[in-house]
Amino acid sequence: MQQWPLHALDGGYENVPFKVFTQRDLDRIEPLQTLPEAMRFEMKVVSTVLPFRVNQYVIDELIDWSNIPADPIFQLTFPQRGMLAPEHYDRIAALLEAGADKATLNAAVDEVRHALNPHPADQMEMNMPRDEEGNRLDGIQHKYRETVLFFPSQGQTCHAYCTFCFRWAQFVGDKELRIAASEASTLHNYLKRHTEVTDLLFTGGDPMVMKTKHLKAYLEPLLEPEFDHIQTIRIGTKALTFWPHRFLGADDAGELIELLQRMVRAGKHVAVMAHYNHWKELDTEAAREAIRSIRSTGAQIRAQGPLIAHINDDPDVWAKMWKMQVKLGIIPYYMFVERDTGARGYFEVPLERAWEIYRQAMQRVSGLARTARGPSMSASPGKVEIQGVTEINGEKVFALRFIQGRNPDWVQRPFFAKYNPDATWLNHLEPAFGEAKFFFEDEYEAIREGKLAAATEA
Ligand SMILES: *Cc1c(COP(=O)(O)O)cnc(C)c1O
Ligand code: SF4
Repeated sequence: MQQWPLHALDGGYENVPFKVFTQRDLDRIEPLQTLPEAMRFEMKVVSTVLPFRVNQYVIDELIDWSNIPADPIFQLTFPQRGMLAPEHYDRIAALLEAGADKATLNAAVDEVRHALNPHPADQMEMNMPRDEEGNRLDGIQHKYRETVLFFPSQGQTCHAYCTFCFRWAQFVGDKELRIAASEASTLHNYLKRHTEVTDLLFTGGDPMVMKTKHLKAYLEPLLEPEFDHIQTIRIGTKALTFWPHRFLGADDAGELIELLQRMVRAGKHVAVMAHYNHWKELDTEAAREAIRSIRSTGAQIRAQGPLIAHINDDPDVWAKMWKMQVKLGIIPYYMFVERDTGARGYFEVPLERAWEIYRQAMQRVSGLARTARGPSMSASPGKVEIQGVTEINGEKVFALRFIQGRNPDWVQRPFFAKYNPDATWLNHLEPAFGEAKFFFEDEYEAIREGKLAAATEA
């Protein structure tokens, strides 16, 4: 358990210590001790395989401990037995019960992790650009023409972990699976050469776990004229949920707020891409104060998050969340479909149900909250939105479109898949109307083969 004191920025938020708990500390989380012993053992088993990290703010302010295990934030952060397949669960539980030695346990844990599709959608080889010599540029992903993703090495963790996180693999210490940058100059050199890029998206982990001085080293150089093409700087974060004090009381919070303001005043569009799953995350005084503080800099906050069983598979939850976001000045941006990795068996929602939830939630909010796109799958060919289930010439189909595509020409073209009530991801869908392939498939295969060949050569 780490602990460090924070200094005052303004009244009321000083002296809020960041107190974090991981698997080793399960027995030290007070409210857990009132739960049945069997449940605590289940948590131990699951967190041996999947990452677990929570902090005192989440425990005290976000979770309703009288509503366990149903509480959505409890489901969001604490391991549940159903997150592992029964055979995986039994194997690890048996080893823990038998007091197996470290090597035996680790070997089993590695095997289970590798069975959980740690790198969905070919992220490693398909999206990572290379320099002229063919060397991989670690920490950079460039999949869609306008937007570069950057994974700063100091931001590869989060203030707490989401149980469903598709980046889970990088939190369990598997260095091979990490996507982290070595230094800022790699990023800056890449952006200088790529004037087609308008948007830079910092992601992680959570870049807001970084000290402000590190964030500054990445951001400030972008104010130089050679980066005029970078109009928008997005920062993906869940700190507004897991640790709003990052923007309030932490020792360098004031500097962070100043940095955001400086970027905005220098003409950049700064967008905090806040990850939200539930309105409860917006419902604390600290969360609201942090939102106010960010908005006071002129930076925008846009909200995005996946639709997750046990957490937010309910149109009322989305409608209430979007309404609260609009009220707080946040722009709803994306509803995602949970990715095909990790504990997806526990969290996934059929595509048809996802669309129903989206549709019903949309019907309950005003136009200003209807800016959220979705439900959208971030698949290897692109971001595919489920537009609905309908019938064409007597055939029941899914209507789909690309919101983003590896080839920009695919974007906004409607296409159709055979209706399949069980489908939870793009690879479960087949073309409608007896066609052999979706319109993009040949081109996608060619792009894919080209990238993989380049990767093998290097
Ligand atoms: C979603 C995403 C983006 C950004 O897409 P927008 O539609 O502009 O928000 C960029 N790169 C990757 C890899 C993405 O998944
Ligand atoms: S905040 Fe984002 S990166 Fe961190 S655990 Fe949650 S989903 Fe994953």
